[in-house]
Amino acid sequence: VKKVVLITGCSSGIGLSLAVRLASDPGKKYKVYATMRDLDKKQRLLESVRGLHKDTLDILQMDVTDRTSIDRAKVQVQEGHVDILVCNAGVGLMGPLELQTVEVMRRVMEVNLFGTLQTFQTFLPDMKSRGGGRILVTGSTGGLHGLPFSEVYCASKFAIEGACECLAVLLQQFNIHVSLVECGPVNTDFLLNLHRTEPGDPLLDALDPLTLRLYQTFLQHCGAMFQNVAQDTDDIVKVFLDAIESPEPAFRYYTNGSVPPLVKLKTALPDGLEYIREIGKITFAQDLEEAHQEHFGSCGSLLLSSRTLPLAPFSSVRLSRGFVHLI
Ligand code: NAD
Repeated sequence: VKKVVLITGCSSGIGLSLAVRLASDPGKKYKVYATMRDLDKKQRLLESVRGLHKDTLDILQMDVTDRTSIDRAKVQVQEGHVDILVCNAGVGLMGPLELQTVEVMRRVMEVNLFGTLQTFQTFLPDMKSRGGGRILVTGSTGGLHGLPFSEVYCASKFAIEGACECLAVLLQQFNIHVSLVECGPVNTDFLLNLHRTEPGDPLLDALDPLTLRLYQTFLQHCGAMFQNVAQDTDDIVKVFLDAIESPEPAFRYYTNGSVPPLVKLKTALPDGLEYIREIGKITFAQDLEEAHQEHFGSCGSLLLSSRTLPLAPFSSVRLSRGFVHLI
């Protein structure tokens, strides 16, 4: 009997690759419902599966921000139940917080947080009554540690971490496993689809020069990260498969080795400052001192001296090819 899998956000990226992989499974173990907000975008998925998988793939419309659309997708599942729910749909937002409108911030929360929560709400009662199921969520390193210029995105992804942890505690009583697949940078349309304050945007004229400069440095850092260390969706799909095929799936999977040390850094000392200092150095490394001097004049040295405090329990943090090494 095929496992019934429903995936959100399948018109591109991780969702599309996962849908293709599961629908093409050599053992035909899965029936995949690949859902997407806009069915006009289904061509890419269809081309990727080359139309060969009539018995293992169905494409359904589902906008995670619209409860009616989620309910409609649910009743279109022919088997009448979902064994594996993959909440993957998400949007990004990057830019100085002062420049974000409340509408844009709400939109991110609507998709990433409420969209995921109401997808859970729709499929949970049936999983509970069947006494089993899997819920997988595409998590982000941005849900585990804060990143500058990503306040709203990280807030939405941190919120999902909390919701999943709460649910996991309860759902173990129902034989329902919740797993987060925590991704670092992945080569997808994410950057294209991301709402980003672009260099040259007149809005940036309202910013103070230091924030502007740090934002430019941050964008360069992000560009370099994506160029040097971004994973392909196939790498992410392998981690999803591990989780799906494991009889006792973990709560958290990391797709990228640099994340666990950063998370460890957050909790190394109770004051939480270790991580904040180090991620600042990693992100703004190249011209921080000069920029501070320009912005604060002599006061800059006070801020700088706080960056040179000893790094217990690690003596230093080094970044190479985007991987963080605690030494
Ligand atoms: P992507 O932009 O290619 O895919 C996101 C998908 O979500 C798109 O198909 C988009 O149409 C869909 N979506 C957006 N709003 C929706 C809505 N209201 N209803 C239904 N679908 C909607 O990018 P991706 O990298 O494949 O992103 C997938 C997930 O991975 C997201 O949750 C993202 O936050 C997470 N993630 C991505 C990265 C990365 O670097 N690419 C890193 C960490 C986490």
